[in-house]
Amino acid sequence: MKCTKCGKKEAIFKVPYTNYFLCADCYSTYFYKRLKRNLSRSNVLSYGGKLSVFVPRSFTAEGLVLIKILRQIERKYNNKLTVIFESSPIVRKSLSVLGKLPSEVFYSLEIVDDEEKDISHEGMLGRLRVVRGMLSLLDKNITGNAIVLPLCQDVLILLELSSILGSIVEGINEGVLVISSSNGTNFINAFSGISCYETSFMAYYNFPEIYEFQIRNLNYEKNIYEKYTERILTDASRMQSGEVIFSVNKSLSWLYKERGSMLKKCKYCGGTSSSEVCRFCKTYLDMYISEKNTPPFKLISLE
Ligand SMILES: [Zn+2]
Ligand SMILES: [Zn+2]
Repeated sequence: MKCTKCGKKEAIFKVPYTNYFLCADCYSTYFYKRLKRNLSRSNVLSYGGKLSVFVPRSFTAEGLVLIKILRQIERKYNNKLTVIFESSPIVRKSLSVLGKLPSEVFYSLEIVDDEEKDISHEGMLGRLRVVRGMLSLLDKNITGNAIVLPLCQDVLILLELSSILGSIVEGINEGVLVISSSNGTNFINAFSGISCYETSFMAYYNFPEIYEFQIRNLNYEKNIYEKYTERILTDASRMQSGEVIFSVNKSLSWLYKERGSMLKKCKYCGGTSSSEVCRFCKTYLDMYISEKNTPPFKLISLE
């Protein structure tokens, strides 16, 4: 079958919720446009500033796709790009596949392992929150005021919905485009509104080796509510071809509007919180810092 758009090349991908079958080039252009629109809608990027990308271990290949596209977009805006990888066995390999432009700086965020306080017990939400809290504590001369993240729509919804099912009200509103912490860091969910099916396709198409390694070895541990929600979402999307993901998102936004005014924002991770610091950042950042007088992470330069 030929591509619906250009009519020349072989189609290799059906765009979800449409009747379009696109070739790799036309699909990549379509993906690029949506990402660009998300970034401009975020309203936190400026000309000639600094911009960071954080690459979580479990989304390494998606992070590389994000960097690849940001390079094309940001060339026009003259922004300096900082890349921060969550430390993992595939960081060096990712760096060599991606290559480094002269204007870019790369770091690895090493989370200090503490047996008493192991974040992985808290599932994906806990881990992502604490990591965001750590990023918000980094020097703004390194990160700039915006840190872009490669989390796709289904993951964002999983975080919100599983929190509600687990009666952890602090997890709602994770799915928004920009999350701002009160210490001045803006986190942009660059793949907001883009399904994980699509980001996985781009990740596998562009970085097959990294993607395969990541799927086998780097998955974040999910808590019981996250596993349960994952099953609900998988079943639902099988029956309704994924549109359910977006209707769940709308319902969650409604819920946040109804209840959100009673809630605060965590000063570290910027997530919804019932007090000044959310339960995750309190245990794994605030208490750690006050007990040991040092933050539980190191930022290592990758040269
Ligand atoms: Zn085409
Ligand atoms: Zn927090």
